[in-house]
Amino acid sequence: MDLVAYVATAPRRGETVTGHAFRTVPGGKGANQAVAAARSGGAVSMIGAVGEDDFGVRLRASLTEAGVDTGGLRTVEGESGTAHIVVDGEGANSIVVVPGANGTVDGLAHGDERRIAAADALLLQLEIPLTGVLAAAHAAREHGVRVVLTPAPAQPLPPELLAVTDLLVPNEHEAAVLTGKSDPYDAASALLASVPEAVITLGAKGSLYAVRDAEPVHVPAPRVKAEDTTAAGDTFVGALAVARGEGRPVQDALAWASAAAALSVQRAGASASMPHRAETDAFAA
Ligand code: ADP
Repeated sequence: MDLVAYVATAPRRGETVTGHAFRTVPGGKGANQAVAAARSGGAVSMIGAVGEDDFGVRLRASLTEAGVDTGGLRTVEGESGTAHIVVDGEGANSIVVVPGANGTVDGLAHGDERRIAAADALLLQLEIPLTGVLAAAHAAREHGVRVVLTPAPAQPLPPELLAVTDLLVPNEHEAAVLTGKSDPYDAASALLASVPEAVITLGAKGSLYAVRDAEPVHVPAPRVKAEDTTAAGDTFVGALAVARGEGRPVQDALAWASAAAALSVQRAGASASMPHRAETDAFAA
């Protein structure tokens, strides 16, 4: 759950300031990608955990409402994962993430392997322990399911994980952390040493698609007035996975995902801003 306080100036150490607004917004990269994929028309199952608290009830309900199957979402003792966000008058933020229940997802539970095996693609992020990410990725590889990894929060990745990743989707910052290269073209070619396919998202500049033995392709983003870019990357990945799962050619799938993400940035909120399939079709046409 994102707990967002809006202030003129963020407090310094030891200081108390008065904010002018507060919101609780269902979030988390995994949940955001699940909602994006479901709204894009995918049949989605979420594997993860929420706490026994009120947030857990609300987080599960928001997934169910989006049409996501929450049979693989366990409720565990303690608090749900939270992000404590302070947004200042210039729109800049500082964030404390407390994993809570997400920290318990350190492996697969009963039924998870069956859920993974039934899918076209497994979408992974790094907001659960690496052991959980690895267990899921190995299960997917064993069953011939495509592994799509969003390497966020940014961190170096173990070779064991890259070895079972089919598609890596970092943003510009994450790509730089992974490769040490700030130029996206250089970063993309460095990533292809570890994974067969990568998309580096570049915010309003679009995205860069790279696959081994071909020239990288720049996919422009539709020009729109951005209101709130929270979860733009998650919307992009969710929509991309659905389009690829339907067997659409890569270029079409990327253009469609860019349309979905461009729609989402024009509206406030994370999952609340994600478009439904028909809207994306209309915008992409
Ligand atoms: P993240 O949200 O993970 O930081 P990006 O900021 O790179 O990722 O955004 C992901 C995708 O969302 C981009 O590749 C682009 O297609 C779309 N997007 C982001 N910001 C904008 C924008 N201002 N205008 C249009 N599309 C955008």
